[in-house]
Amino acid sequence: MKIDLHAHSNVSDGTETPADVMASAARAGLDVIALTDHDSTDGWAEASPAALEEGVALVPGMEVSCRTDQGISVHLLSYLHDPAHPGLLEEITKSKDARLTRAERMVTLLAEDYPLTWDDVIHHVAPGATLGRPHIADALVAAGVVSDRSEAFRSILTSRSRYFVQHYAPDPAAAVELVRAAGGVPVFAHPVASSRGRIVGERTYREMIDAGLVGLEINHRDNPEEGREFLRRLAAEHGLLITGSSDYHGTGKPNLLGENLTAPAVLDRIEALGTGTVVVRP
Ligand code: AMP
Ligand code: ZN
Ligand code: FE
Ligand code: FE
Repeated sequence: MKIDLHAHSNVSDGTETPADVMASAARAGLDVIALTDHDSTDGWAEASPAALEEGVALVPGMEVSCRTDQGISVHLLSYLHDPAHPGLLEEITKSKDARLTRAERMVTLLAEDYPLTWDDVIHHVAPGATLGRPHIADALVAAGVVSDRSEAFRSILTSRSRYFVQHYAPDPAAAVELVRAAGGVPVFAHPVASSRGRIVGERTYREMIDAGLVGLEINHRDNPEEGREFLRRLAAEHGLLITGSSDYHGTGKPNLLGENLTAPAVLDRIEALGTGTVVVRP
């Protein structure tokens, strides 16, 4: 059983449509794929029939952008939540709207130094998609400023860059609580991914665990080995599930479907805990 619980489509910042992500998952030999677009579940409707057609099981999911009171970015995966839960929907809508204003601000700053317009960015965003820095990166690639998204994230678009602007995002413990309230299963995505920016300390883990955190995405390419040992101890101490996933973004990132996998027994636990919707099985 090959289970990959983290992938993006062009409903956020992946480069493939939700249906194409299902086809890619089948081609990669996966049995189970989770679609986890940033702050949106809009891809589920297209992905569900495509998964059936392609013969892969789909775990409907989402990746919720969060930020601590210290300004540290946290990504929270949610599986099998009710997409219509008002509290959760309100928070992701706020984030999605704030991402638009934030991208406009970043483009204004970037336009002082680079040949970039708002139209150039919008050109790379599917209608209604959750806007992110990868879309700005695409416009910078098209303008010949950088060669690919990765180069953009190494230089101009890092969270340490002078062009970086934050956007509204809920507190991680509050998001865990909302995901649980919506019948979802919250898993802390790439918790020690220090290359992306500052990482959280023990207090945030404690608050998220107290709020009902279920798992840690330990097996992800952005978690350095040192940090994984700490996470394994934390998982053992608090009975948290351990997941592994690719964080596939189509051609937008080198991450390949199936490069990290989740154990079948872990998926069974997620399925038993998730009450907001069901796994789509062929
Ligand atoms: P944002 O949500 O707008 O802050 O942008 C963060 C997104 O950019 C995340 O979804 C990451 O997957 C993506 N990202 C981060 N680093 C890279 C990279 N090196 N190449 C491509 N995408 C990246
Ligand atoms: Zn992304
Ligand atoms: Fe993430
Ligand atoms: Fe992701």
